[in-house]
Amino acid sequence: MGASRVPEAARKIEVLASADVVVAGGGVAGCAAAVAATRAGARTVLLERFGYLGGLATGGLVIWYVVMDDGKGRVVAGGLASEFLRRTEDLGGVEALDPAWREGRWPESGRLLPAFSPEAAKRALDEVVVESGAEIVFHVLAADPIIADGRIAALAVETKCGRYAIKGRFFVDATGDADLAVRAGAPVAESENTLSCWFRVGGVPGAFGPMTGLALGLFGDPDGPSAITGMDVRALSKWELDARAAAWRRLEEMKRERPGWEGAYILDTPTQPDVRRTRRIRGLAEVGERDAGGDVAGCIGLAADWRHENSPPGVWRIPYRALVPRAGPANLLAAGRCVSAEGGAWDVLRVIAPCAVTGEAAGLAAALLAREDAIACTDLDEEKLRAGLAEAGAVLD
Ligand SMILES: Cc1cc2nc3c(=O)[nH]c(=O)nc-3n(C[C@H](O)[C@H](O)[C@H](O)COP(=O)(O)OP(=O)(O)OC[C@H]3O[C@@H](n4cnc5c(N)ncnc54)[C@H](O)[C@@H]3O)c2cc1C
Repeated sequence: MGASRVPEAARKIEVLASADVVVAGGGVAGCAAAVAATRAGARTVLLERFGYLGGLATGGLVIWYVVMDDGKGRVVAGGLASEFLRRTEDLGGVEALDPAWREGRWPESGRLLPAFSPEAAKRALDEVVVESGAEIVFHVLAADPIIADGRIAALAVETKCGRYAIKGRFFVDATGDADLAVRAGAPVAESENTLSCWFRVGGVPGAFGPMTGLALGLFGDPDGPSAITGMDVRALSKWELDARAAAWRRLEEMKRERPGWEGAYILDTPTQPDVRRTRRIRGLAEVGERDAGGDVAGCIGLAADWRHENSPPGVWRIPYRALVPRAGPANLLAAGRCVSAEGGAWDVLRVIAPCAVTGEAAGLAAALLAREDAIACTDLDEEKLRAGLAEAGAVLD
């Protein structure tokens, strides 16, 4: 990004926390990773750059919990993916859900993609993560992995009080953008995004629901910036300005076009940019469009194809090896929208429910590895992981 360089002096930094498992990023994937690791007995710290949990699902105002069923009446996202939704529903924050989903069933006639309140989801995630016993540290930016002997020994983080180190035995990159992976030298792939922005509107008749509010998506704007990766802060700054301007323009149009909308106003716009696919790891396995079905033996969870609203979709089996970078530090796993999947499969795996699925698997895997004093993520006994996930209610086949 910058044109010239200046030297930075090396220095010793204070250790802020030590844990068995360090999870960077408090989106849905990071929350699932932290809860799964803690429940498996690992001392776990969850690092989040903002002051709330949920990432894009809450701060990005992405209010559709996509997608939990296989289109044939079976709920395929169990475990923490279901628990997060249940806990949000307990707070009255989920719209019109058939109670059958709690028993793993869903009417064959429609897809299970409930709308939820971002505020209820934030609170539900607070509760679940705090109850698990994981330590949450907000307002820390995970910055530089400190590598020794091919492993991450500690993570340098930036805070208002300066730079600190977080020591750990296994690390989960749940930043959504593969920040740890790229800075630790693991191979990554990038993608581009066009301007998107969810915003919620009040003061209109027939609003969608009392808690979710009327959410409007703005996807693609001819006056917006051209495609960006979402990693360049100058491009991102322009994106933020353009996204809000486009939302206000859209509001004015709707006030003119829609009867009863004269008093409409914007309730909120995203507090993190609505970028979909930024960076992801290149893993030992790369889930591809043609892998739908996949290998049963190494499967750590399922992702249903949300792109087919009416016809029964494919269900992807996600292998553990898609969470393991193919090179770089030996003790790093990825979770959520930065796991290893390409093309259409990346689009299927990056939505909320599959992100919780890969987060839960990464957290449990990291805890098992730490318990066994393992050196590398490739040392994992995958059958133990699958057994633990099945016990926790994950759907594996
Ligand atoms: C426009 C748009 C529409 C979408 N629509 C839907 C939909 O309808 N339904 C659906 O299910 N999904 C949808 N998605 C996708 C889905 O919301 C996300 O992909 C998913 O929530 C990602 O979860 P995650 O935990 O992997 O990542 P994120 O939600 O991105 O969470 C990453 C977290 O890490 C934090 N973080 C990042 N870097 C650092 C760092 N260096 N140090 C510390 N913290 C860091 C962030 O603040 C964030 O909290 C949509 C996404 C977009 C952008």
